[in-house]
Amino acid sequence: MLGPAASLAAPIQGGGVRYVHAVTIHWAPGRGKGRGFTPRSVYVRLTRLQPTWSIIRLSSEPLSREPEGILPPHPGLALKDTSRGRTLYTRTGHRRGDTLLEHFGPHANFETGAGLAPDHVMEVGEDEVFLPSGALDDFVNHSCDPNCRLDFRGAGRVFLIALRDIAPGEELSFDYATTTTRAGIQAFPGWRFNCLCGADNCRGEVGSAEDLPHERLLHYAQLGALAPHVLRRLNLTLPRSA
Ligand SMILES: [Zn+2]
Repeated sequence: MLGPAASLAAPIQGGGVRYVHAVTIHWAPGRGKGRGFTPRSVYVRLTRLQPTWSIIRLSSEPLSREPEGILPPHPGLALKDTSRGRTLYTRTGHRRGDTLLEHFGPHANFETGAGLAPDHVMEVGEDEVFLPSGALDDFVNHSCDPNCRLDFRGAGRVFLIALRDIAPGEELSFDYATTTTRAGIQAFPGWRFNCLCGADNCRGEVGSAEDLPHERLLHYAQLGALAPHVLRRLNLTLPRSA
């Protein structure tokens, strides 16, 4: 049972599954004299079943599991803290074309999301973002020479796919510009930042798809790496065959 002082920190408003990442709940281990309330930090994942909220996951550790219906990440994936922040890497390696994880998160439009920190927020449609999920997909970093791409499979589902064979120990990355439009950067100015990826073809700055060199844009289009809303924005069509 939750104690009477359970408090939820700034739940994200909107439709679908909602998440609250860290809240302090005064946990009541039992009833009766001498059993006081002990404050504990717990992590919860909530879903809103109108008109109330329901807890669908409660944990003493940061959330890393996915809600029902979301593809679990490849078991070889893990997080690593580096001088560049927390990154996602693979312990096992992967083959080209492998599906590594599913991106997900509460949906929001630009206006709603723009009031929040831009970290771990991803543009997934016209005037549409995923807010942070609290899971591994939040930690895929950008590279100008990425080893992964996003795959938009319809019904709003987005997956991370290996663009080439990936060796054990490699960090996973995709090019953020493949799913970011100029309109997105207007809403989230923090999405434009100096790039430190170290690739030979590093552009020096991460921006929108409109900022990509034309050859790079065509390269990504041929790989199927551009998000559908980016293709529409750029008035590009996918090649009929590879
Ligand atoms: Zn770069």
